[in-house]
Amino acid sequence: MLHILTIIGARPQFIKAAAISRAIRQFDNIQETIVHTGQHFDANMFDIFFDEMGIPKPNYHLHVNSLSHGAMTGRMLEEIEKVLLQEKPDVVLVFGDTNSTLAGALAAKKHHIKIAHVEAGLRSFNMRMPEEVNRILTDRISDFLYCPTDTAVINLEAEGFRQYPCSIEQVGDVMLDAAMYYLPISSQKSSILRDMDLNQDQFLLVTIHRAENTDHPQRLAEIVEAINKLSKDFDVVFPVHPRTKHLLSNLSISPRVKLVDPVGYFDMIQLINGCRLVVTDSGGLQKEAYFFKRFCVTVRDQTEWVELVEHGYNRLSSTKSSDIQDAVHFFLKQTFKTGEALYGNGDASNRICRSLLNHHDKNHSI
Ligand code: UDP
Repeated sequence: MLHILTIIGARPQFIKAAAISRAIRQFDNIQETIVHTGQHFDANMFDIFFDEMGIPKPNYHLHVNSLSHGAMTGRMLEEIEKVLLQEKPDVVLVFGDTNSTLAGALAAKKHHIKIAHVEAGLRSFNMRMPEEVNRILTDRISDFLYCPTDTAVINLEAEGFRQYPCSIEQVGDVMLDAAMYYLPISSQKSSILRDMDLNQDQFLLVTIHRAENTDHPQRLAEIVEAINKLSKDFDVVFPVHPRTKHLLSNLSISPRVKLVDPVGYFDMIQLINGCRLVVTDSGGLQKEAYFFKRFCVTVRDQTEWVELVEHGYNRLSSTKSSDIQDAVHFFLKQTFKTGEALYGNGDASNRICRSLLNHHDKNHSI
């Protein structure tokens, strides 16, 4: 029996965990223990994902949240260590690039427990981003690096990872697994397009929550100005992240911009699938826009998903209002053509499970 201990904490990790946990349940020789650090805890940032996506309730809830980066990571490290000593898993599974990811990996490493990192090898090459620090450090101490793209493998090779005692595999993206599985279910279960009176391809979908945008009032004001201008021609739907919420209250927003609380995953993928175009600074949304054949304007200086930009599906924009509007207008004239499978075939979770089992079988206890 392979015992995997999965660490989750933030919204995108619940979605990735949904895909992996579903795959794990297909194997009767894998046992999963889920630890939720508590980083995101509101009903609409946590419970809704577990309820609608059928993720098993976490076995441990550590309630670590609303602290500075250092305090949060330190507290998580301490609490995760206690769980590891009790559970003694064969491998700790971490996702992405949050404080929960780094704390989980570090706690495991100190106890010589193997670490599997899902979404390994991504880089923005901007060390001022907390996410970049988390992902580089996690990669370096991980044993099994599961890369979603060829670029991620190339990034690791360029940093000399082939000389380290770790395995590097390109397995595709677990978010594609989730998107493919839940799209048909969400079209039965979600009524958001009807409820909000939105017509197919007639609205823009906006999300903004990165510290690099929300920590600078002037940048956020420019983004809002762009959205207000775009709302003259389109309805705009803007599910507002808790971090962005109070900052928006100081800005004047057009009534054609529909500000809503964060929505569940089913509503979100219906919104992406129904919109004309996405404007975001989210990592996950950039890919989901591509999965559902929607262009995406990314309001950031860099993206980890460079292949989307290289293939013309995504454009980076500064926060300048005119730059955002220009990028949107550029895409409004384009037709979305897909060909290549940039993120695999939707079987990344299954491949990760099989790979971990192989390593386990080879070494008895990994
Ligand atoms: N998401 C959601 N509801 C929302 C906003 C986002 O379900 O109101 C989903 C989105 O579809 C994607 C994930 O949350 O799967 C992305 O999370 P977020 O943008 O918070 O983080 P990032 O991807 O930037 O790390």
